[in-house]
Amino acid sequence: MKKTDNKPKWLQEFSVNNFIMIAGPCSAESEQQVIETALELKKIKEVSVFRTGLWKPRTRPGTFEGIGHEGFQWLKKVKELTGLKVAVEVASPHHVELSLKNNVDIIWIGARTTSNPFSIQEISRSLTGTDICVMVKNPMHPDLNLWIGAIERLHKIGLKRIAGIHRGFFPYSFSNFRNIPRWDIFIELKRLFPTLPVITDPSHIAGKTQLISKVAQMAIDLDTHGLMVEVHAHPAEALSDSGQQFSPLEFKKFISELKFRRSVGLNKDFQRELDNFRSQIDMIDQQLFEFVAGRMKVAKDIGEFKCRNDITILQLKRWAEILKTRVELGKEFGLNEEFTRKLLQLIHEEAISIQSEIMNRCAEDRNK
Ligand code: PEP
Ligand code: MN
Repeated sequence: MKKTDNKPKWLQEFSVNNFIMIAGPCSAESEQQVIETALELKKIKEVSVFRTGLWKPRTRPGTFEGIGHEGFQWLKKVKELTGLKVAVEVASPHHVELSLKNNVDIIWIGARTTSNPFSIQEISRSLTGTDICVMVKNPMHPDLNLWIGAIERLHKIGLKRIAGIHRGFFPYSFSNFRNIPRWDIFIELKRLFPTLPVITDPSHIAGKTQLISKVAQMAIDLDTHGLMVEVHAHPAEALSDSGQQFSPLEFKKFISELKFRRSVGLNKDFQRELDNFRSQIDMIDQQLFEFVAGRMKVAKDIGEFKCRNDITILQLKRWAEILKTRVELGKEFGLNEEFTRKLLQLIHEEAISIQSEIMNRCAEDRNK
């Protein structure tokens, strides 16, 4: 499935063709449901790890909160019957202790738990002296440092087999996604920790099965190390996350449609041509920065002019007009409207900040 490249060696144990495919139901609901799902997954050669939640962090009480430690017996059977590795979510030292005792292969820390450094510290302490593989989901809100902090706490107690799981971030306004992917954060984590494997959970990003393929393909195109996907033998009957779980059949189709690409080029011709394109980008960036700096210089001059004439920085009419005309201009150049808006807002924010500095200085000078 995936061309061999520089993946950490320990990942091999959990991978098929150098890619980790973790699949299984959101929650373990009954022995029948767990075993039936696992037996279906065993038939799919790309799957290497069976996932399920024994303790479920539900937003409000009164819904299914997991089967608890009873489920470990079912997971033992999964291992015996399928040979798949098993992964569960832990949120406390007690969960860790039971998972270790029951020979779980991978434990993962859920988004809500990553958000709390106290919990992470306690979990880390309870893992001291072990070498189990731990995967850390990103926190609920887009705080990269909190995610990194959790990984660091686990690293500090001596764990060597740590991976991140990107599961998206809470949307504060309307979104098609259950959790916003924020690929910029995923990329930044990879840039800061190039040897850290980061896998992607497209099920919790998408929130509905129809969106999962698109998210997973994007993750693969951004060189994710693997996927964690929710699969249930009978999704319509699921006690949690019913709308985002694939049936085994749907999952098989989903895998067959994924396109895996190499992360490095094959030959010199490819490299030469890519370098060619890249030098074009380098030149355009040079011009882009010259233009942006030129624009900021004019904004600065306007700031001084406004200051001398005692008028406000924000001129609402002008800003509305800029937005309207530039969005149209962007469209003419084939640029995405949202992108144009974001770009303009960023430039405008910086221009305001430059002008505000000038105004403050100007006011100080007058008070002297
Ligand atoms: C889960 O994987 O079932 C889960 C609860 O995920 P998250 O922590 O990403 O919400
Ligand atoms: Mn779930």
